[in-house]
Amino acid sequence: MPEPSPTVAVVTGAARGIGAATARRLADDGLHVAVLDLDERAAKATADTIATRGGVAVGVGADVSDTDAVTGAVARIARELGPPTVLVNNAGITRDNLLFKMADADWDAVMGVHLRGAFLMTRAVQHHMVDAEWGRIVNLSSTSALGNRGQANYSTAKAGLQGFTKTLAIELGKFGVTANCIAPGFIASDMTRATAERIGVPWEQYVQDRAKAIPVQRAGQVDDIAQAVSFFVDRRSGFVSGQVLYVAGGPRG
Ligand code: NAD
Repeated sequence: MPEPSPTVAVVTGAARGIGAATARRLADDGLHVAVLDLDERAAKATADTIATRGGVAVGVGADVSDTDAVTGAVARIARELGPPTVLVNNAGITRDNLLFKMADADWDAVMGVHLRGAFLMTRAVQHHMVDAEWGRIVNLSSTSALGNRGQANYSTAKAGLQGFTKTLAIELGKFGVTANCIAPGFIASDMTRATAERIGVPWEQYVQDRAKAIPVQRAGQVDDIAQAVSFFVDRRSGFVSGQVLYVAGGPRG
């Protein structure tokens, strides 16, 4: 009997942080992975690391908020790895500021990457899932969706992703596709390191302070999120759809 073709996953914003950990984990789970990122060189480096661990991965440069870049990237992934049937919308940025100081550009940039980006990527990939009569979509929300000082743009985008996910679950369920959201709490990554720098608190101090407020008394690690993604992507998780899983060391981080 011929070998079944491998499942192909696209992870956006996968050059580093949560995305890179997720790409590594899905490769360990046996999927072939497209490491998509704005930063093509870093994406290729992450893909190379996966390959040295025995996985199959390609690095792809694309801005998820650019329609043509997204269409081109998905076509390239389908050509080089096979049609993608797993999509992890992870690419993200922050442009924090109190509302009265928030610039139009800060609002638009955050909406562009998180919301428009997830929309464009999902629209470009979904037909491969529909053709295969199977698919998995995982969107990265955040505990900030519940409201967070200085993040009117980011919390709005992350709450929006929850609504987006639930609608995907309803529209695509009959094609064997599930869509779920992961809402991380505080995770040690370059993104949170930049926040510590911006507010002028040494990183170790910042982590310690944040950990104190988390019921399990530690900062989240990128692999904590990769673990949750792996669960949603698993073929045995097909009856779980439209859900938001807070991975925050407590009810809400
Ligand atoms: P990170 O900043 O370390 O990595 C984000 C990656 O996304 C980078 O490699 C960056 O180049 C890429 N990216 C940014 N804009 C892009 C674009 N337009 N197109 C393609 N790629 C782009 O962030 P992280 O901490 O790993 O966060 C990953 C996701 O998890 C984000 O959506 C973030 O909002 C979410 N999240 C993070 C935390 C946390 O505490 N770190 C908490 C909740 C949610």
